[in-house]
Amino acid sequence: MRVLLVEDERALAGYVKKGLEENGWAVDAVEDGRSALDWVGTVDYDVMILDLMLPQIGGLEVCRRLRQRGLTTPVLMLTARDALKDRVSGLDAGADDYLPKPFEFEELLARLRALTRRRNGVTKTGVLTVADLSLDPAAHRVRRAGLEIDLPYKEFSILELLLSQPGRVFSRSQIADHVWDMETLHQSNVVDVHIRNLRRLIGDGRGQTLIETVRGVGYRVQAPGGRS
Ligand code: CA
Repeated sequence: MRVLLVEDERALAGYVKKGLEENGWAVDAVEDGRSALDWVGTVDYDVMILDLMLPQIGGLEVCRRLRQRGLTTPVLMLTARDALKDRVSGLDAGADDYLPKPFEFEELLARLRALTRRRNGVTKTGVLTVADLSLDPAAHRVRRAGLEIDLPYKEFSILELLLSQPGRVFSRSQIADHVWDMETLHQSNVVDVHIRNLRRLIGDGRGQTLIETVRGVGYRVQAPGGRS
Protein backbone atom coordinates (compact mmCIF):
# COMPACT_ATOMS: atom_id res chain seq x y z
CA MET A 1 0.00 0.00 0.00
CA ARG A 2 1.16 3.49 -0.75
CA VAL A 3 0.09 6.45 1.35
CA LEU A 4 0.49 10.20 1.08
CA LEU A 5 1.06 11.69 4.52
CA VAL A 6 0.31 15.41 4.81
CA GLU A 7 1.37 16.72 8.20
CA ASP A 8 3.40 19.80 9.15
CA GLU A 9 4.31 18.64 12.65
CA ARG A 10 7.64 17.03 11.87
CA ALA A 11 7.90 14.86 14.96
CA LEU A 12 4.46 13.39 14.40
CA ALA A 13 5.03 12.96 10.67
CA GLY A 14 8.32 11.17 11.33
CA TYR A 15 6.72 8.87 13.87
CA VAL A 16 3.84 7.96 11.56
CA LYS A 17 6.10 7.47 8.52
CA LYS A 18 8.46 5.20 10.44
CA GLY A 19 5.61 3.14 11.88
CA LEU A 20 3.91 2.68 8.54
CA GLU A 21 7.16 1.73 6.83
CA GLU A 22 7.80 -0.86 9.52
CA ASN A 23 4.42 -2.29 8.54
CA GLY A 24 5.39 -2.50 4.89
CA TRP A 25 3.71 0.64 3.59
CA ALA A 26 5.34 2.96 1.08
CA VAL A 27 5.04 6.49 2.48
CA ASP A 28 5.49 9.87 0.81
CA ALA A 29 5.43 12.69 3.32
CA VAL A 30 4.75 16.36 2.57
CA GLU A 31 4.23 19.28 4.93
CA ASP A 32 1.79 21.58 3.21
CA GLY A 33 -1.44 21.56 1.24
CA ARG A 34 0.01 22.71 -2.07
CA SER A 35 2.54 19.86 -2.23
CA ALA A 36 -0.22 17.46 -1.26
CA LEU A 37 -2.33 18.55 -4.23
CA ASP A 38 0.69 18.24 -6.56
CA TRP A 39 1.53 14.73 -5.42
CA VAL A 40 -1.95 13.34 -5.28
CA GLY A 41 -2.39 14.33 -8.91
CA THR A 42 0.66 12.40 -10.09
CA VAL A 43 0.60 9.22 -7.99
CA ASP A 44 -2.35 6.87 -7.52
CA TYR A 45 -2.27 6.60 -3.72
CA ASP A 46 -4.20 3.90 -1.91
CA VAL A 47 -5.02 6.34 0.86
CA MET A 48 -4.12 9.80 2.12
CA ILE A 49 -3.57 10.98 5.72
CA LEU A 50 -4.47 14.65 5.80
CA ASP A 51 -3.93 16.98 8.72
CA LEU A 52 -6.65 19.57 9.21
CA MET A 53 -4.39 22.47 10.19
CA LEU A 54 -1.77 23.04 7.49
CA PRO A 55 0.19 26.07 6.27
CA GLN A 56 -1.14 27.92 3.17
CA ILE A 57 -3.87 25.57 2.05
CA GLY A 58 -5.62 23.85 4.95
CA GLY A 59 -6.76 20.25 5.07
CA LEU A 60 -10.41 21.02 4.38
CA GLU A 61 -9.56 23.00 1.25
CA VAL A 62 -7.14 20.30 0.03
CA CYS A 63 -9.91 17.74 0.43
CA ARG A 64 -12.45 19.91 -1.37
CA ARG A 65 -10.13 20.55 -4.35
CA LEU A 66 -9.25 16.89 -4.52
CA ARG A 67 -12.89 15.90 -4.85
CA GLN A 68 -13.55 18.73 -7.32
CA ARG A 69 -10.89 17.17 -9.53
CA GLY A 70 -12.80 13.90 -9.33
CA LEU A 71 -10.11 12.09 -7.34
CA THR A 72 -11.52 9.30 -5.19
CA THR A 73 -8.43 8.60 -3.09
CA PRO A 74 -9.71 7.77 0.41
CA VAL A 75 -8.87 10.52 2.92
CA LEU A 76 -8.30 10.07 6.64
CA MET A 77 -8.44 13.51 8.23
CA LEU A 78 -6.41 14.23 11.36
CA THR A 79 -8.11 16.73 13.64
CA ALA A 80 -6.42 18.43 16.56
CA ARG A 81 -9.69 18.78 18.38
CA ASP A 82 -12.46 16.28 18.61
CA ALA A 83 -14.98 19.04 17.99
CA LEU A 84 -18.16 17.99 16.25
CA LYS A 85 -17.84 21.00 13.94
CA ASP A 86 -14.42 19.85 12.64
CA ARG A 87 -15.61 16.32 12.05
CA VAL A 88 -18.70 17.45 10.18
CA SER A 89 -16.75 19.95 8.04
CA GLY A 90 -14.18 17.28 7.25
CA LEU A 91 -16.76 14.78 6.11
CA ASP A 92 -18.62 17.51 4.18
CA ALA A 93 -15.39 18.40 2.37
CA GLY A 94 -15.09 14.81 1.17
CA ALA A 95 -13.01 13.09 3.86
CA ASP A 96 -13.86 9.42 4.38
CA ASP A 97 -12.92 9.19 8.03
CA TYR A 98 -11.27 11.25 10.74
CA LEU A 99 -9.00 10.60 13.68
CA PRO A 100 -8.61 13.06 16.56
CA LYS A 101 -5.12 13.76 17.88
CA PRO A 102 -3.51 12.37 19.91
CA PHE A 103 -4.07 8.87 18.60
CA GLU A 104 -2.59 5.43 19.07
CA PHE A 105 -0.61 4.22 16.08
CA GLU A 106 -2.53 0.93 16.04
CA GLU A 107 -5.78 2.82 15.59
CA LEU A 108 -4.37 4.83 12.71
CA LEU A 109 -3.24 1.61 11.04
CA ALA A 110 -6.61 -0.08 11.55
CA ARG A 111 -8.45 2.89 10.05
CA LEU A 112 -6.12 3.02 7.06
CA ARG A 113 -6.68 -0.67 6.43
CA ALA A 114 -10.44 -0.21 6.65
CA LEU A 115 -10.33 2.64 4.12
CA THR A 116 -8.18 0.76 1.61
CA ARG A 117 -10.35 -2.35 2.02
CA ARG A 118 -13.47 -0.38 1.31
CA ARG A 119 -11.88 1.09 -1.79
CA ASN A 120 -10.83 -2.29 -3.12
CA GLY A 121 -14.22 -3.82 -2.39
CA VAL A 122 -12.73 -6.52 -0.20
CA THR A 123 -14.85 -8.60 2.15
CA LYS A 124 -15.39 -7.53 5.73
CA THR A 125 -12.71 -9.73 7.21
CA GLY A 126 -10.20 -8.21 4.80
CA VAL A 127 -8.74 -11.61 3.92
CA LEU A 128 -7.93 -11.91 0.22
CA THR A 129 -8.30 -15.37 -1.25
CA VAL A 130 -7.63 -16.86 -4.67
CA ALA A 131 -7.65 -20.64 -5.12
CA ASP A 132 -5.57 -22.18 -2.31
CA LEU A 133 -3.81 -18.92 -1.45
CA SER A 134 -4.96 -16.45 1.17
CA LEU A 135 -3.53 -13.19 2.44
CA ASP A 136 -4.59 -11.45 5.64
CA PRO A 137 -3.40 -7.81 5.56
CA ALA A 138 -4.17 -7.13 9.22
CA ALA A 139 -2.24 -10.13 10.51
CA HIS A 140 0.39 -9.85 7.73
CA ARG A 141 -0.14 -13.54 7.05
CA VAL A 142 -0.05 -15.57 3.85
CA ARG A 143 -1.10 -19.18 3.53
CA ARG A 144 -1.01 -21.54 0.60
CA ALA A 145 -2.63 -24.97 0.76
CA GLY A 146 -2.88 -24.53 4.54
CA LEU A 147 0.83 -23.80 4.98
CA GLU A 148 1.95 -20.47 6.37
CA ILE A 149 4.42 -18.56 4.20
CA ASP A 150 6.71 -15.86 5.53
CA LEU A 151 6.98 -13.11 2.90
CA PRO A 152 9.24 -10.03 2.98
CA TYR A 153 7.29 -6.74 2.95
CA LYS A 154 7.79 -5.82 -0.70
CA GLU A 155 6.72 -9.27 -1.89
CA PHE A 156 3.78 -9.12 0.51
CA SER A 157 2.69 -5.72 -0.86
CA ILE A 158 2.94 -6.88 -4.47
CA LEU A 159 0.87 -9.97 -3.72
CA GLU A 160 -1.68 -7.86 -1.82
CA LEU A 161 -2.02 -5.56 -4.84
CA LEU A 162 -2.45 -8.41 -7.33
CA LEU A 163 -4.98 -10.16 -5.09
CA SER A 164 -6.99 -6.97 -4.59
CA GLN A 165 -8.33 -7.31 -8.13
CA PRO A 166 -8.02 -10.86 -9.43
CA GLY A 167 -7.96 -10.96 -13.22
CA ARG A 168 -6.75 -7.39 -13.59
CA VAL A 169 -3.36 -6.91 -15.19
CA PHE A 170 -1.04 -4.56 -13.32
CA SER A 171 1.81 -2.98 -15.25
CA ARG A 172 5.31 -2.89 -13.81
CA SER A 173 5.02 0.84 -13.20
CA GLN A 174 1.67 0.44 -11.43
CA ILE A 175 3.23 -2.17 -9.18
CA ALA A 176 6.29 0.02 -8.54
CA ASP A 177 4.08 3.05 -7.78
CA HIS A 178 2.17 1.05 -5.24
CA VAL A 179 5.07 -0.56 -3.45
CA TRP A 180 7.91 1.98 -3.49
CA ASP A 181 7.91 5.59 -2.30
CA MET A 182 9.27 8.56 -4.25
CA GLU A 183 12.57 8.67 -2.37
CA THR A 184 13.50 5.14 -3.27
CA LEU A 185 15.38 4.89 -6.50
CA HIS A 186 14.95 1.61 -8.22
CA GLN A 187 16.12 -0.06 -11.37
CA SER A 188 13.62 -0.85 -14.07
CA ASN A 189 13.78 -4.59 -13.45
CA VAL A 190 13.15 -4.30 -9.70
CA VAL A 191 9.53 -5.43 -10.05
CA ASP A 192 10.53 -8.51 -12.04
CA VAL A 193 13.12 -9.42 -9.42
CA HIS A 194 10.58 -9.23 -6.61
CA ILE A 195 7.93 -11.09 -8.62
CA ARG A 196 10.45 -13.88 -9.22
CA ASN A 197 11.18 -14.01 -5.51
CA LEU A 198 7.47 -13.95 -4.67
CA ARG A 199 6.74 -16.84 -7.03
CA ARG A 200 9.53 -18.87 -5.51
CA LEU A 201 8.30 -18.22 -1.97
CA ILE A 202 4.68 -19.13 -2.65
CA GLY A 203 5.74 -22.19 -4.63
CA ASP A 204 4.20 -20.95 -7.87
CA GLY A 205 4.79 -23.09 -10.90
CA ARG A 206 4.84 -26.29 -8.87
CA GLY A 207 1.40 -27.53 -9.85
CA GLN A 208 -0.92 -24.55 -10.05
CA THR A 209 0.34 -21.19 -11.27
CA LEU A 210 -1.39 -18.17 -9.73
CA ILE A 211 0.75 -15.25 -10.84
CA GLU A 212 0.70 -14.94 -14.61
CA THR A 213 2.99 -12.88 -16.77
CA VAL A 214 1.07 -10.96 -19.42
CA ARG A 215 3.64 -10.38 -22.13
CA GLY A 216 4.56 -6.75 -22.69
CA VAL A 217 1.99 -5.59 -20.14
CA GLY A 218 2.62 -6.86 -16.63
CA TYR A 219 1.31 -9.36 -14.14
CA ARG A 220 -1.97 -10.63 -12.80
CA VAL A 221 -3.44 -13.19 -10.48
CA GLN A 222 -6.03 -15.23 -12.28
CA ALA A 223 -9.55 -15.02 -10.86
CA PRO A 224 -10.86 -18.30 -9.43
CA GLY A 225 -12.02 -20.45 -12.30
CA GLY A 226 -11.39 -17.50 -14.61
CA ARG A 227 -10.03 -17.80 -18.11
CA SER A 228 -8.60 -14.92 -20.00
CA1 CA B 1 -0.88 20.75 11.57
